[in-house]
Amino acid sequence: MRLSRYFLPTLKEAPSDAQIVSHQLMLRAGLIKQEAAGIYAWLPLGLRVLNRIEQIVREEQERAGAVELLMPTLQLADLWRESGRYDAYGPEMLRITDRHERELLYGPTNEEMVTDIFRSFVKSYKALPLNLFHIQWKFRDERRPRFGVMRGREFLMKDAYSFDIDEASARKAYNRMFVAYLNTFARLGLKAVPMRADTGPIGGDLSHEFIVLAETGESQVFCDKALVEMPAPGPGVDWDDLQAIVDERIGKYAATEEMHDEALFESQTAEADRLTARGIEVGHIFYFGTKYSAPMKAKVAGPDGKDTDVHMGSYGVGVSRLLGAIIEASHDQAGIIWPDAVAPFDVVVINLRVNDEAVCVACEEAVAKLEAAGRSVLYDDTDERPGGKFATADLIGIPWQLTIGPKGLADGVVELKRRATGEKLTLPLDQALETLA
Ligand code: ATP
Ligand code: MG
Ligand code: MG
Ligand code: MG
Repeated sequence: MRLSRYFLPTLKEAPSDAQIVSHQLMLRAGLIKQEAAGIYAWLPLGLRVLNRIEQIVREEQERAGAVELLMPTLQLADLWRESGRYDAYGPEMLRITDRHERELLYGPTNEEMVTDIFRSFVKSYKALPLNLFHIQWKFRDERRPRFGVMRGREFLMKDAYSFDIDEASARKAYNRMFVAYLNTFARLGLKAVPMRADTGPIGGDLSHEFIVLAETGESQVFCDKALVEMPAPGPGVDWDDLQAIVDERIGKYAATEEMHDEALFESQTAEADRLTARGIEVGHIFYFGTKYSAPMKAKVAGPDGKDTDVHMGSYGVGVSRLLGAIIEASHDQAGIIWPDAVAPFDVVVINLRVNDEAVCVACEEAVAKLEAAGRSVLYDDTDERPGGKFATADLIGIPWQLTIGPKGLADGVVELKRRATGEKLTLPLDQALETLA
């Protein structure tokens, strides 16, 4: 991608109402533009990152056995009357009336709709276990939208819904999502700690939030330090029996403010291991049994031929919030430092003199070879001065910067910089390309 033909509206300074660094950097790096309070347009660079995060989330859902579908953003109010949540949900729900005076709402979550889909088609336990997920925009009319995409009103969520014949089987489904979440957040370069959590308006008794520690986080959290550094289990686990992996984690103290029990914390955790911190909720999983299936009559025939209410759980990831969380965890004075897995481009090739034929030839050769090797490349072919180009490259956080200029070329070398460490290597172009391939 040629930067001169791209759309990357960077800002010298962040608007003064952006209070936290991730929001400031998302605006400055040209990732998003605010259209209304808590409602953002995703500019091309931001969209590339959003798509990559979404894809990692999708892959880990599928690995855990969940099946993707896509439900609409608009839902009938009557569906929510069946579960009793239409009135209970309150002012966070955006209610809409169509030209026929039919009451609709912009979905803040999808328990009712997915239960309706399930009951329309599934009649027998033989179709279970089943886990359906989608990645779809949600709307919640937050009282205080703030911190950019971190607390938007319109935001992208992955939400999965599991259906099982009984509680024991539903707990296995819960464990699969628990482990999928550990793996997902690790792939995104984040340390996310599962914590005992309140279930809020979703309901149920078993629930964990996945929390990324950050000073700007909106939640107060309490946990055993060991959980922060515990590595993710990875994909090579026995997906039918994850209890030991889950127990190893939930056996250590970790709770959000609403669930915190100081006496229990002190009895379970040595003083030196107690961590009290702020955190960002990036995911939340729930087991709620028959809370929706009973009132909505989502029943299946069991092996004995008798109908029983299906046991359900739901599992959310804040896909758009994750951009903010990743930037909070990975930036410096100069800008964003994208983890390789989610970077909008793998490499930025910086042309230091666009009116020098040899430099242009070398740059274009580098771009072609990198792209042939499967790397995504942003080619800075603009006539901006070098200082400005370096500043932009640092700001937008591309993991590798390959700089080609007339002086180096005369000596047969280019410069390769790793954004995360600032380490710079001067080496022949071929060697630089080998490093990046
Ligand atoms: P919060 O406590 O931050 O308001 P929540 O508990 O209301 O979030 P859930 O219903 O658990 O949210 O939704 C699942 C996930 O969706 C959350 O863990 C979070 O990552 C994300 N999310 C929720 N609300 C927002 C929002 N307003 N903007 C961006 N992401 C959100
Ligand atoms: Mg909320
Ligand atoms: Mg919450
Ligand atoms: Mg939550």
